[in-house]
Parts: sequence; C-alpha cells; structure tokens
Amino acid sequence: MALDRFGRHIHYLRISLTDHCNLRCVYCMPEDMTFRPNAELMQDEEVLLLVRMFAGLGFDKYRLTGGEPTVRANVVELVRAMAATPGVRSLSMTTNGVLLKRLARPLAEAGLQRVNVSIDTLDAEKFRRLTRWGSLEDVWQGILAAEEAGLEPVKLNAVVVRGYNERDVVDLARLTVEHPWQLRFIEMMPFAGATELQQSQMVTAEEVLARLEAAFGPLELTRNGDLDGEARVYHIPGAQGEVGVIASVTQPFCAACTRARLTADGRLRLCLLREGEVDLLTPLRAGATLEELRQLVLDGVWHKPWGHGLAEGVIPLNRVMSEIGG
Ligand code: SAM
Ligand code: SF4
Repeated sequence: MALDRFGRHIHYLRISLTDHCNLRCVYCMPEDMTFRPNAELMQDEEVLLLVRMFAGLGFDKYRLTGGEPTVRANVVELVRAMAATPGVRSLSMTTNGVLLKRLARPLAEAGLQRVNVSIDTLDAEKFRRLTRWGSLEDVWQGILAAEEAGLEPVKLNAVVVRGYNERDVVDLARLTVEHPWQLRFIEMMPFAGATELQQSQMVTAEEVLARLEAAFGPLELTRNGDLDGEARVYHIPGAQGEVGVIASVTQPFCAACTRARLTADGRLRLCLLREGEVDLLTPLRAGATLEELRQLVLDGVWHKPWGHGLAEGVIPLNRVMSEIGG
C-alpha cells in the first residue's frame, strides 16, 4: 500500500498516454506547441509494466489522459490490456471527445468504463476560439457516442475563462436538465505556456455558482456537500443530471487527495501543481529491477507534497498542462 507521510493512502493513478493533442486550447498550451518525439514517450509495454507494478502497490483506480489520449496509436489495445490487469478496478478516460464518435464503442468493448469529455461552450464559434480550431459538432457527436456505448455516467468538463465562456455556464448547466450528465466547471489553474491568461482570466467557482443561481434559482447541494472526486456537486431542481464545481484554486481539496500522475515521458508527478517528479522511465530503460522501481514509487509517494502553493504565488512552470495530464 502506498502511503504518504501525512497518512494519505495514494491509490489513484492518472496516466498521460501522450503529450500530443489534436486541439490547442488557449488555457492549456501555446498555439505553436512542440510535442515530444514518440521515442521519448512510454511505449505500450512500458506503460503496461508500470501499470502492473502500480496495481501491485494497491493502485486500483486509473484515468487515462494526455495531451489527447485518443490520438495515441493503439489506444484500444492498450486499454484492453490495462483493463485485464489484476488489481485495476476502475478505468476511465479524460478526452476532448473529437475522436469519440469512432472510438467510444471499441474503447467500451475493450474495458474502458467511463469518460469525462471536455466541452467549454455550446456556441460553435466560441468553441473554435477556445480550442483554436476544434469543431463543436465533432465533440457533441462524441458525447452521444460515449453515452450510447455505455461509458456512463457521462461527465462533461468545462474550464471557465473570462472573456471567452463565463456566460456560457448557464447553457452548459441546462444540459443537465434533459440529460443524466454531470457538468463540472473547473477553475483555471496556472502552468507554463499560458500563464498570463490563466492568472488574469480565471473565473472562480463562486462566480459560476452565482451565475447558475441567478438563472435557475437556488441549487440543491448533493452528497451533504461531500466531494465527488474533486467536484462539489449540485442539482438544478427537477434536473436529471448534476452540476459540479472544481475549485482547485480557491478551495483546494489537497487533504483528501489520493492521486499521483504518470507523465507520458514516464515521470511520477506527486502533485499536479508542484514541479517535483520521480523519473521512472530512465531507470526502467536502464534495466532497473521491478523491486527498485517499486521502491522509487513508494519513496516518491511518501514525499508527496501536502498541497499546492498557489496562494503563496508558487506556480509550477516546468511543464504545460497537457504534458501533465490534468
Ligand atoms: N485532452 C483531454 C481533454 O481536454 O479533456 C485530456 C487532457 S486535458 C489537459 C485534461 C483536463 O484539463 C481537461 O478537462 C481540460 O479542460 C483541463 N485543463 C486544461 N488546462 C487547464 C488549466 N489551465 N486549468 C484547469 N484545467 C485545465
Ligand atoms: Fe488538448 Fe485537452 Fe489541452 Fe485542449 S485541454 S489542448 S484538448 S490536452
């Protein structure tokens, strides 16, 4: 079992399958982003070896992310092998949805259980502006395909950016009236690559909730206010689905954190918003034994930082968001 020195049991691994992406969201990466050569990324057998090792350490919950995980070659087979790994209890994916129309069914059949799809607005023009060239229709078709394939409950993520989509939260939330989806509004976090926009155009969860309550009346808090993952979840009276807010910046949930992240280039990152990482891929390629790798993970987890330092002005600048995986 992987414990940190504060007594948190770390058993949730988010794996970035690639830093490459078919979009260029303004809050995530610069337009002229350059990606790592494939040889620097974990190869399929390296991902699977590490997953087996993490599962042996009690990691039972896995989320595939990126970059855009669906652009990774062979993603369906990789999912199939991961889903069949003993100890992997939960396997989900965060995706921009662009390729889901084609991939939702094969991924579900391979053992993927759920998806979170990112959709920041229902206005096609604004969507293009936020993603720099994405097509809203592709993502919409992807969401419907995910639901049809049984990748449920469908969760939708929206990062709220002032000057881009802060008014769109109402239309997005309205989706939950007709659909049993969970729409989660995320506070934009600062990293390298788009730091200025991320800091100056962040919209707080409090503001999002105020906009929703102005439109729908008082929201009902669900789960007695307990977090669902990282989201505080509400219900619009009479709606089928739920709305959530992820207030990573203004109301950090570090005390309840159970996660670690594996970057596409094989570094174990113990906190999304702290620069510290443990290189696993270099020792793996240099012939480290499984026991040596396990020890690197256990030591890394033990030293997992308590929480992020955004309130003190500490911003992680060694990677852009898409390189870590969200
Ligand atoms: N490409 C996939 C996608 O967009 O869903 C997966 C990777 S993306 C980095 C994971 C999540 O992080 C997405 O929901 C995205 O909207 C969110 N995200 C990206 N940049 C962010 C930022 N600066 N602050 C908060 N969330 C961010
Ligand atoms: Fe790509 Fe996701 Fe980043 Fe958008 S948020 S650029 S889709 S990795």
